[in-house]
Amino acid sequence: MNSSGWLAFGLGVVLAWMALPARAAEKLKVLIVDGQNNHNYKAMTPFMKAELEKTGRFSVDVSTTPPQKSPPELWAAWRPAFEYYDAVMSNYNGEPWPEPVQEAFLKYVANGGGAVIVHAANNAFPGWTEYDRMIGLGWRPAVYADRVYVDDEGRLVRLPAGQDAGAGHGAQHEFQIRVRTSAHPVMKDMPLKWMHAKDELYHGQRGPAESLNLLATAYSDPKTGGTGKHEPMAWWVPYGKGKVFTTLMGHVSGDSIPALQCVGFVTIMNRACEWVATGAVTLPIPAHFPTETEVRLVAKP
Ligand code: ZN
Repeated sequence: MNSSGWLAFGLGVVLAWMALPARAAEKLKVLIVDGQNNHNYKAMTPFMKAELEKTGRFSVDVSTTPPQKSPPELWAAWRPAFEYYDAVMSNYNGEPWPEPVQEAFLKYVANGGGAVIVHAANNAFPGWTEYDRMIGLGWRPAVYADRVYVDDEGRLVRLPAGQDAGAGHGAQHEFQIRVRTSAHPVMKDMPLKWMHAKDELYHGQRGPAESLNLLATAYSDPKTGGTGKHEPMAWWVPYGKGKVFTTLMGHVSGDSIPALQCVGFVTIMNRACEWVATGAVTLPIPAHFPTETEVRLVAKP
């Protein structure tokens, strides 16, 4: 082959490479952990997996723990390979994980892994000090640790253990989310106020809240059994070289899943997984994002 032949051959190789299916090899690997929950995780996980995969950005595996009161040999066989994944999303609220799994999870995040905590996954593991540090705030009683909220002037308020409300929620309802850090990649280009679909509005979350980066709040209205404070709804905490992102949105009991179908929830989940995995967000805000007054849902499969 002469030089122009080689050039044509080279060009052909490049064109063939460019025609490969859309960057299949570059998909981010996400692991969803479930298996025990006081919520209907069997309705939640497949929906969340499908929404992540719909973006084309992720390939998603699920690791399901043994059920409650399982014999030790079943737990001994459950050893998720966290280190293989770019992000681990917890949809788990149940018995403590075996010690080797706890250690593997801490090591994974400390070494730069990403974790996303969905709704009741922040209820899990009271007394596991390092988990509390990772999530920043959890569903714990008032005496457990500090409480953080935002006042009407937008100032972050921190109260010590024992003062004010412990973890709880009022009646489920649709409520408005207020973005507090619009420069953060997960929240960027999102309307500063938007309506979230019917959900539980958690209040009085407690924890060490070290280096807590608050991204969004919701007003917890006393009329629906709330605290009269702007409660944290989404935040992230650095842990070693890794990042831990929490969304309190996402309550599901029974087969009705509006809190997950909320386009706002789906957008935050997708972007949070991308961000904890890579430190950047490429996924856009969908055109049918909720407005200041209107809830928007994705179709239920
Ligand atoms: Zn719930």
